[in-house]
Amino acid sequence: MKFSTLSLLISSIIGLSYSQTIYTGDVLEGNKVITKLDINDLPEKSVSYLWFKVPANMVGINSHVPLMVKKGTNGGPRFLLNSGFHGDEYNGIRVVQDTFHSIDESKLNGTVVAVTYASPGAIAGGRMFYVTNSATGGIVDVNRNFKLSPEPTDIGSLMTDGLWKNLYSNNNFTACVDMHGASAGDSYPNLIYGDVRIEYTNRMFELSGADIVKLEIGSAKNTGYLEDALNQINVPTISYEIGYGLSMQADQIKRSNEFMQRIMADLKMIPPTTDKDSISRFEAAQKKTLALNELHIAKNNIGGIVIPCVSLLDKVEAGQVVAHVINPYGHVIEEIKTKVDGYVMMIIRNPASDPLRNIAFISRVNPDESCKLGGCFVP
Ligand SMILES: [Zn+2]
Repeated sequence: MKFSTLSLLISSIIGLSYSQTIYTGDVLEGNKVITKLDINDLPEKSVSYLWFKVPANMVGINSHVPLMVKKGTNGGPRFLLNSGFHGDEYNGIRVVQDTFHSIDESKLNGTVVAVTYASPGAIAGGRMFYVTNSATGGIVDVNRNFKLSPEPTDIGSLMTDGLWKNLYSNNNFTACVDMHGASAGDSYPNLIYGDVRIEYTNRMFELSGADIVKLEIGSAKNTGYLEDALNQINVPTISYEIGYGLSMQADQIKRSNEFMQRIMADLKMIPPTTDKDSISRFEAAQKKTLALNELHIAKNNIGGIVIPCVSLLDKVEAGQVVAHVINPYGHVIEEIKTKVDGYVMMIIRNPASDPLRNIAFISRVNPDESCKLGGCFVP
């Protein structure tokens, strides 16, 4: 057997052994259903719309995560755009869609995988969590269940098990951005949570032009975040919090889409933008990015209507009133104060507040050695 034939045979055997996409045989609305994706199986210069089957719900109706794949040429980098773990965070879903559709697969170097409704049950309910009425009922935050335990032990870990083993962890992604936003009644600016120990995560901070980069040290065992789980298998990943809950904000979506383009250009997947407006927007934003490492949460002790006295990104001083609680007669019954100097990283939008709600996040730089690497918290 000639060498070239032998090497061809070997490579075809290797190819076969890695050909692992599992099709269930079902087709929904013209798109195939899978339970496992292997990017290697897809042809070059192709666009694929798929459904990734996840566990059936409590009445036995199947659920499917919508999945889009654009595969270019040259093997190349593999970029995962994820969104939709939380059903009240729409901006990120739109960023994933816009970014995906902006790519010309005939000119793409590498592959982009886009996930829009990662927790279809939460999306269908329009709220952060998947709500189940089985047994005594409960809520499941899918993005707290990537704890990397070998086998699922409950509905939460079962919902992440297939996604983790057959989509997120087995495709050798080069980088990932997991899109989020503030919860239903809250607001965030343009904000990144990221692990400071990962080299390319720091590069994504630089490329972001975000309002705030919140520096952290993550552990999937503790948090169950996809971000931390992927970082632990050497897929640099950030959690990207984009604006308000239950909103589609055109300015935030455009800004975030431009950030995704910069990451793909940095990975040499697409050419860098030549749009002067986009470049100048980024340069202006980048100069203002705040890298912060400590968080204080201001809460109300008394339930009632809460009226914020500060806005996102305001600079505040320790002891400053950030919100008032009023009673049904309109009297101020509580002043909510920040314990620390810092910047307003989250403030509520829906005023109706049970006691001990998170009213504002105040974040700052703590130069203390123990906080230098991020993740400090002021109770
Ligand atoms: Zn979220």
